[in-house]
Amino acid sequence: MPATFSLQRLLRRQGMRSTDQRHAIIDALRRIGPASPSDIHQELLTSRHYLSPVTVYRNLAAFFDAGLIHKHPSDGRYFLCSAIGIRGPHELLQCTRCGRVQEVRSNNWKDLPKRIERGYGFRISSCVIATFGVCDECEI
Ligand SMILES: [Zn+2]
Ligand SMILES: [Zn+2]
Repeated sequence: MPATFSLQRLLRRQGMRSTDQRHAIIDALRRIGPASPSDIHQELLTSRHYLSPVTVYRNLAAFFDAGLIHKHPSDGRYFLCSAIGIRGPHELLQCTRCGRVQEVRSNNWKDLPKRIERGYGFRISSCVIATFGVCDECEI
């Protein structure tokens, strides 16, 4: 993600207000993600952001719905999307040996959202495809 990445602009584009709380949560995820909501809450307290667990949880849910963060396919911990703002499906590859999840960008699934919207009359807010297998480093 480029350093100039504007969270403010992205939040606005998703119809979300850009608040200090939201910035603090995203920053915490940047530092410690993948993390559970309670890990994130703890991290915020450590950095002197006194948000309630409910506030943290609600914001995480909103970020998730907007596609700004992803959930680890196995343990449900949240991590920051590494392709925020990029349209189309986001593709996660999870290694079943080391547990590492990497986000890749490809055109493999480019037409999928369109096909789903047409086929099922389903309006997509975000689309994430998780693929499981063995990563480069584990396959020796
Ligand atoms: Zn993503
Ligand atoms: Zn691996």
